This record gives sequence, C-alpha cells and structure tokens, in this order.
Amino acid sequence: MLHYALGNPLVRSLTLASRPFFEQPPEGFSEAPLGRTMPVLIHARSDELGDLEELDLELAPFAALERVGEAQIVELCPVLRVGDGGAVSGILDRNGIRLDPHALLQGYARMLRGRGGHLVTGARVSAVNRGGGTWNVETERGDRFCAPVLVDAAGSWADEVARMAAIAPLGLEPKRRTIITFDAPQGSDPSGWPFAKTVGDELYFAPESGRLFASPMDEVPTDPCDAQPDDFEVALAAHRVEERTTIEVKRIVHKWAGLRTFAPDKVPVAGFAADAEGFFWLAGQGGFGLQTSPIMAAVTASLIAGAPWPLGDVTPGELGSGRFGQTA
Ligand SMILES: Cc1cc2nc3c(=O)[nH]c(=O)nc-3n(C[C@H](O)[C@H](O)[C@H](O)COP(=O)(O)OP(=O)(O)OC[C@H]3O[C@@H](n4cnc5c(N)ncnc54)[C@H](O)[C@@H]3O)c2cc1C
Repeated sequence: MLHYALGNPLVRSLTLASRPFFEQPPEGFSEAPLGRTMPVLIHARSDELGDLEELDLELAPFAALERVGEAQIVELCPVLRVGDGGAVSGILDRNGIRLDPHALLQGYARMLRGRGGHLVTGARVSAVNRGGGTWNVETERGDRFCAPVLVDAAGSWADEVARMAAIAPLGLEPKRRTIITFDAPQGSDPSGWPFAKTVGDELYFAPESGRLFASPMDEVPTDPCDAQPDDFEVALAAHRVEERTTIEVKRIVHKWAGLRTFAPDKVPVAGFAADAEGFFWLAGQGGFGLQTSPIMAAVTASLIAGAPWPLGDVTPGELGSGRFGQTA
C-alpha cells in the first residue's frame, strides 16, 4: 500500500514526494499501472478516539481526510464491527494506492537494463574490500566486480555487508511481519472495500484477488533470514480479524512473513558512509520501502551522480548516516 498512517512525518514527506511517480510513471517504465486507488479507512473504538484525533492532525498535511461515523464505516466496509466494542469513528483517505510490487520491480529492472545496467541474481556477496581506489566485491560463486562507488542496499543484511567492508554497522533492526489470506464471507464482494486499519498498530486487512489479507502488524525482532510465518502471529491475525470484524476465519488459505528493517530512529538511510570513501548506505526502508522508493532513488541519484536534490522539506543530513554519530 501507499498510505500515510505509516511511519513518522519525515517518512510521510518521502511518501508524498514519491506519489507522482506511481500516478504517472516515466515513459516506458511499465505497461501495467503501478497501482490502483484503494481508500484507506483508519477506525477507532470509543477508547481509541484520542489516538484517532492525534492521527487526524498528523495526517492532515499529507492527505484530504474525511471523518466518518458508524453508518459510513459500515457502508465502506460492511464486515467491520461498529457500536459497542466496535468502531465508532474513522478517518478516510480516498486516495490510498494499492501498489503492484511486481510491476514496480519489473519497471525498475527494465529502466536499469535500458541504461546499460546488468542485474545479476543468485550471487551472494561474500567479500568486500577497497583497494586501488575501487570497491572490490566477490560473490560466493566466484564473480568479481569493482567500482568506485558501492551501494549497500542489502535490506536486512545491509549491516552484514558493511561489516564485510570493515565499515561500522548502523544498528539496523530486522522485524518480522506476518500476513494471512482468507476467504471473504460467502456472497460478499470485497473488491470495493478499503484498506482498513486500526488506529493503533493492531490489525490491517484489505481485499486481494477476491479474498482478504490481514496482518496483526507484528514487529518481531529477528536476525536477517528468509522469514517464515510463526504459528502465534498467524493465530493472532485470525483472532484480531474476528475481534474487529464479523468475519469468522474458517480457513487460512495462505500465510507468509517478511522482514521490515529499520534504522534505530525508524527513518531510512541514504548517504555516503563517513568512515570509508565511496561506500553508500541505502538501507532501513522499514515498512515503507515500496511507497518511498521513487524518492529514495532520486535522493541516491542526487548524492552519487550530482542530480538536483529532489526534496524541499527534507535535507541530506536527515537521511545521512552521520545522524548516528559517524562524522564525515
Ligand atoms: C509483510 C510486509 C508488508 C509490507 N508492506 C509494505 C507496504 O504496504 N508498503 C511499503 O511501501 N512497504 C511495505 N513493506 C516494506 C518493503 O517490502 C520493504 O521496505 C522493501 O522491500 C525494502 O527494500 P530493500 O530493497 O531495501 O530491501 P530488500 O527488498 O530486502 O532487498 C535486499 C536485497 O539484498 C539482497 N542481499 C542481501 N544480502 C546480500 C548479499 N550478501 N549479497 C547479495 N545480495 C544480498 C537480498 O537477497 C535482497 O534481494 C512490507 C514488508 C513486509 C515484510
């Protein structure tokens, strides 16, 4: 999803700045649309109204929000419990975007190739050192690459790659998040339902290919790994769906988990390392790495290739690794 209920004000600025790219991708980027509009409904029980007020104020600079009451909540998402013990109020952003990650990834890969780049997969980096004015990278299967600038965009493994290069890690924290997919109630058509999220980070669910997906919004610290769903979070997801909606989750059709990796201050990192020439950090994309990817790419192009700085309200220092005490 692209929505603003995620992250802090700086992340929201990065999301807002990325939005035009998704709405109007560059010529030749993708034949398929990069996403489709999906309303975002953030709902609150009576004991959560204070948090809803606060979020409303925080999101107002980024989206045109509507306040909705019980009747509208049911109209938008008929399975949400309302009234006593259920949602009593909500904020609605009609302009959320359900991103298509495949179209996005393929588009980026296509642009890279179109500009003479090569995408080498199945090639795990096993050694990194600097010598002769370049970074020299070796993979487990024996490929060798060298370049004056190395971008460390290894996601959950970015600190690990830095350690190989004898560079101080940032203290990145990979956190597992779980998704389940299940059937919508018989006879219902969920395709027009919103991305529905509790005001606190407890549950979100949304339609997907005729079914529904949901997450208990878990953030379980873990080492970098190929994350697998854990039974507890899978059960928690189903439990929270049943708690907040009238749906009975009879069968979990699919479950998966992935890692969302955060810098210590939960703001992404883009910038040259202070402790080695030509080593560029592009890490800590957390749970907002898709929706901020266009602007993070532009930031990277600016800092490495000297393209104009693309942001009016965020400075290079706010994204750089210097904020963790490393000085240039
Ligand atoms: C359940 C879930 C839901 C999410 N929902 C959203 C959402 O709604 N909106 C949103 O914007 N974002 C969302 N995210 C977050 C988003 O997926 C991430 O922020 C984004 O994928 C991070 O991209 P990245 O390129 O930094 O890292 P990754 O996608 O993790 O890519 C890093 C790559 O580096 C490779 N690598 C690592 N080590 C090495 C090595 N030694 N040698 C070679 N290659 C290596 C890995 O194989 C991997 O391919 C979600 C994430 C999860 C898990």
